[in-house]
Amino acid sequence: MIRWPGRRRTAARARSRRFRVIRRDQSRVKRTNRGETLTRTPYIRSPMCAQTAEKLNHHPPEDLAVFADVEAWIFDLDNTLYPRHSNLFAQIDGKIRDYVKQVLKVSHEEAHNIQKGYYRRYGTTLAGLMREHEVDPDDFLEFVHDIDHTPVKPDPALGVAIARLPGRKFIFTNGSRVHAEKVAARLGVSDHFEDIFDIAAADLVPKPERETYQRFINRFDVFPQQAAMFEDLSRNLSVPKSIGMRTILIVPQVLGAEAGREVFQQDWEAEGHDAAHVDFVTDDLTVFVGAVGDVVAVQP
Ligand SMILES: [Mg+2]
Repeated sequence: MIRWPGRRRTAARARSRRFRVIRRDQSRVKRTNRGETLTRTPYIRSPMCAQTAEKLNHHPPEDLAVFADVEAWIFDLDNTLYPRHSNLFAQIDGKIRDYVKQVLKVSHEEAHNIQKGYYRRYGTTLAGLMREHEVDPDDFLEFVHDIDHTPVKPDPALGVAIARLPGRKFIFTNGSRVHAEKVAARLGVSDHFEDIFDIAAADLVPKPERETYQRFINRFDVFPQQAAMFEDLSRNLSVPKSIGMRTILIVPQVLGAEAGREVFQQDWEAEGHDAAHVDFVTDDLTVFVGAVGDVVAVQP
């Protein structure tokens, strides 16, 4: 009996040590790259995002019941249908910077700053280039999507999970149709999608502009209250939520970082995980869609 308090203290100290170790491990790492602040992911290790970690790991079936009446499943493409750690979008990112550098005849660093500035201000770098420099969108889109798609690996499990969802499925991307078709083909999920809504279909007006979601809805006769949208950028889920969609934010995978891969992104991209317009957060699209399928799939 006398030893109880000591043992409890020891246990408490051990917990405390574990906690401190974890806290150190979780500390938010910032690195400066060309004057920008980048954040080391995954979010689950960030003490700022404890709520996000909670959301990532707990999706009880009763919560997923909100998907029961969904008939249109809308997926963003880049960093959503394929994981961010495949770094495919990093290739596009580099091509966009090269394009800006060539067209505006600026230095590497200036091109990078212009690219990111337009991306943030106008939704895409293309939108900024068109508005401020009247570039030819077709020329831009062809150039920046001319990349190596082989880092995207076939994902049969994702295909199975998507196939189980009842209703129609769409890809809704700020990129080009050709790029989306190549990615879907690499993943092996092309057959599951009714159509692709790309930046040309959006009349070159990117998400998160409200008119672009409306254009999508009109084109496919989607009833927003019966739709769900998957995205890796929180800001692109704001309009969908406001018009009645269920919203799911995809964040970089914890597994990726644990396997020694590091993913960096700009701080503003990582914002908004706890925003009211985000219904669910997950770092594994396949697992999440599978869990939704368990709840909503028509039983044979
Ligand atoms: Mg994306």
